[in-house]
Amino acid sequence: VALSEFDLIGRYFSRLSGVGSAVVLGVGDDCALLSPPAGMELAVSVDTLVEGVHFPPAAEPEALGHRSLAVALSDLAAMGAQPSWATLALTLPVAEESWLGAFSRGFYGVAERFRVALVGGDTTRGPLAISVQVGGYVPAGKALRRSGARPGDLVYVTGTLGDAGLGLLIQQRQYFPPAYGLGLRDRLERPTPRVSEGMALLGVASAAIDVSDGLAADLGHILEASGVGAALYLERLPMSDAVCAYVADTGDWNLPLSAGDDYELCLTVPSQRQPTLDEVGADFDCALSWVGVIEKQGGLRCVREGAQGCSLEPRGYRHF
Ligand code: ADP
Ligand code: MG
Repeated sequence: VALSEFDLIGRYFSRLSGVGSAVVLGVGDDCALLSPPAGMELAVSVDTLVEGVHFPPAAEPEALGHRSLAVALSDLAAMGAQPSWATLALTLPVAEESWLGAFSRGFYGVAERFRVALVGGDTTRGPLAISVQVGGYVPAGKALRRSGARPGDLVYVTGTLGDAGLGLLIQQRQYFPPAYGLGLRDRLERPTPRVSEGMALLGVASAAIDVSDGLAADLGHILEASGVGAALYLERLPMSDAVCAYVADTGDWNLPLSAGDDYELCLTVPSQRQPTLDEVGADFDCALSWVGVIEKQGGLRCVREGAQGCSLEPRGYRHF
């Protein structure tokens, strides 16, 4: 028996979990109704995952559900916004119950963890593509923007860099690690948006961005928006044992510098707020590492101890 569009929505995308006070009406009518809290600004972002572009054909649906919401929430995290709701536009070649069940499980797993209500969406037939729009709230005038970095500010990153990129190299059989880096697959397929970390940085960080296209490229966006440059200390880049081993093995720093999909946060902080940042960072679920300094002169300079500095062309992933 073919699953009708309405059965499909009712069965897999109508859970009432995560509906906070800001949601007046969720899935089922022509629109969702939302009631933004007083004094807050609405932060909105949308991300699309297309089969064959952002994930391989026959990717695990549970991981896709997780990842599609997690990458959208990462943008809210980078602004310091508290996630509230999401909409889901799903384009499917066929309505397959086992696929939908697993996708829905992955999606709601992230939704429940970050208290996001799925309030609506759209379901159409076509080549597999997933668009997730998210909304969150941030105290008016306080959002973390890309444009706030000033010379003398310190540059930090959360977590470790290059894990997702290494996971991808291993998945594509372009690299065979001496010891298989456990957890790299999850880092690629089930990223963790740094939501509580981003919110804790409000009033502390001067600028922030999430690292989706590689640190060099994403820090580059902060530099451009702020009209500044930076020195980045390669030896200070936080790396997992697996990525350290890869860099030692290959001498290639592109993984921690330019590989995408990590969804960590890169932020800047005025030096006088460093003690506050240390306090805030002590409560993070992940590491918080100092990696560089903002400078007046434009561009990104990579510095290695005992070596000549090199100027770096930011080269993250480019679609076009
Ligand atoms: P309309 O034709 O008025 O746009 P739809 O038939 O597309 O309505 O959707 C019916 C209801 O189901 C709407 O509330 C819509 O937001 C919701 N919806 C449709 N697809 C999804 C989905 N994939 N996930 C969540 N909600 C959905
Ligand atoms: Mg519709």
